[in-house]
Amino acid sequence: MDDEIRIPVSLPLDSDGFLRRECPTCEREFKWFSHDEGDANAEPATQYFCPLCGEPSGLDSWWTPAQLEYGYGSAGDTIDQVIKDSMADVFKGMKGFTYKPNPSFSLDIETPDPLTEPDDMVMVEPPCHSNEPLKVPEEATRHIFCLVCGTAFSA
Ligand SMILES: [Zn+2]
Ligand SMILES: [Zn+2]
Repeated sequence: MDDEIRIPVSLPLDSDGFLRRECPTCEREFKWFSHDEGDANAEPATQYFCPLCGEPSGLDSWWTPAQLEYGYGSAGDTIDQVIKDSMADVFKGMKGFTYKPNPSFSLDIETPDPLTEPDDMVMVEPPCHSNEPLKVPEEATRHIFCLVCGTAFSA
């Protein structure tokens, strides 16, 4: 068995295809454009710059608290199934013992309500990387940093 359990979590995008993000440094929210997998227009990066404070962080450090909570919650059913399967495996090899899986077994991890993404914030395009548009709160549009290279610009 593969030790790694992958849990698909689909996060909602707004109607323009933007994903909500939270900066781990300034803890403010913005949105970046969610490119389709394999999109040649997507800028390859090993880190992103916060459009609001300009601090760089690794690609995986931009989850909002709601997204993290949703991710853990979505994992609940998968974890239940993995435990059920491995219990069945343990008992399979025992002679004279019949293991009856308990269909109601559950760790009772609460399944969260689906997230929704409102169409808020203002869309801006960094002049240096116009293929990576952003959405930022309206009051932040005068001083924005490019997600990819950190260059400051104003919209
Ligand atoms: Zn920031
Ligand atoms: Zn740039």
